[in-house]
Amino acid sequence: MTHVSVAKDSVPAADELVVLSSVNKHFGALHVLQDIDLTITRGEVLVVIGPSGSGKSTLCRTINRLETIDSGSITIDGKALPAEGKALARLRADVGMVFQSFNLFAHKTVLENVTLGQLKVRRTDKKAAEKKARELLDRVGVASQADKYPAQLSGGQQQRVAIARALAMGPKVMLFDEPTSALDPEMINEVLEVMQQLARDGMTMVVVTHEMGFARSAANRVVFMADGRIVEEATPDQFFSNPRSDRAKDFLSKIL
Ligand code: ADP
Ligand code: MG
Repeated sequence: MTHVSVAKDSVPAADELVVLSSVNKHFGALHVLQDIDLTITRGEVLVVIGPSGSGKSTLCRTINRLETIDSGSITIDGKALPAEGKALARLRADVGMVFQSFNLFAHKTVLENVTLGQLKVRRTDKKAAEKKARELLDRVGVASQADKYPAQLSGGQQQRVAIARALAMGPKVMLFDEPTSALDPEMINEVLEVMQQLARDGMTMVVVTHEMGFARSAANRVVFMADGRIVEEATPDQFFSNPRSDRAKDFLSKIL
């Protein structure tokens, strides 16, 4: 499938950071994203929820082009996602991503994990990259683990390192795809707290999560997906107290 970008680079409305227009994506016969229109504004925390298989991860992956789209367009800060090459690497660096599985480089220390992208993609010099890495590790509360290897850390610590690593690139938006789903329960809050702080600091965030407490307290907006479509968009208050669609009512009755 080819990546069709109908939108040309254009001056976006000042507060529009990520804009998806009529995005469609298939996996074979499966229409996994169906006419997705979604605008994420600067500083917004958008929580995406929905049943398993509804297309949440695919949505995240198209935003930094880990997946191609079949039609429609995606722009980041007014720039259409290029198909490949250096321009793609640069634009992708504007989009930080944190996955369910921590995806740290196992054979690199925590510090190296957080400096690597800065050195390779951002071409930061080593000293500055390490300084920034240490600041970020401090910010997520794992400064004392800098010289350890990922396997020596708890899952919660590893996920906080993964957040620091993404932040090290200076992203304009951070995507979190079920960042706490693989964690032991006692480690979930330490990761959510880092995310809460990030939200308070004004980071633009898209968060796929089943943590409804986080959604209620941190989200500016909730998007509910089912079967590849955005079924509902609302404030957390509206969504949790008064879901409009049967799909959302049914989903909430199962998880709350
Ligand atoms: P969610 O994150 O909401 O659980 P996903 O975006 O992971 O949903 O998946 C949506 C649908 O697309 C599911 O039916 C899944 O099996 C399918 N899917 C996801 N990735 C692929 C892939 N690489 N190839 C084929 N089907 C896929
Ligand atoms: Mg998923």
